[in-house]
Amino acid sequence: MTRVVLSIGSNLGDRMARLQAAVDGLGVSVRALSPVYETDAWGGVEQGAFLNAIVIADDPGADEHEWLRLAQALEDANERVREQKWGPRTLDVDLVTCYDGAAEVSSRDERLTLPHPLAHLRAFVMVPWLAVDPDAELTVAGESQRVDRLLSELEAVDRDGVRLTGLVLRLGTTVEPEA
Ligand code: AMP
Repeated sequence: MTRVVLSIGSNLGDRMARLQAAVDGLGVSVRALSPVYETDAWGGVEQGAFLNAIVIADDPGADEHEWLRLAQALEDANERVREQKWGPRTLDVDLVTCYDGAAEVSSRDERLTLPHPLAHLRAFVMVPWLAVDPDAELTVAGESQRVDRLLSELEAVDRDGVRLTGLVLRLGTTVEPEA
């Protein structure tokens, strides 16, 4: 059985509808959904703020490569265009980490790096993740570390930049368009 922690984000068009489309596409494998947060974009490209959330999913038949394929299929289905690295996107789905039973999967091939190499630097990943799993751990530099500790090592301005919204993702439903 593999379980995956997915980071989903959108900063183009109806952002909430895109996040909900990702959740709907994962269907019955979804186990937990975080609240939705808003985060100013980083990476040096001028663009609108992102909505971000964490989805935890499991599927007895899916390994990490299958999760990546599914993540990319969800992006493609949401008219994802890769025009600019770090640029605006309708939907971004990243694999944060993946478990095979109790073991955290490690991958270093050219298509898939697990755990995600930037997850421990991204407040917009760790804040929502802790909201659904306060005891979350992540392997960084070969060592399993508590995510709450990794988050506390970031600058306060990064943590505070991840703002809780009142928007709610739902299982197996569609949402009203974002106002
Ligand atoms: P981006 O467009 O920034 O989302 O990057 C997507 C590319 O990163 C794809 O070509 C993936 O094959 C690769 N990739 C490597 N590791 C991961 C990961 N953990 N999650 C998602 N994409 C990954």
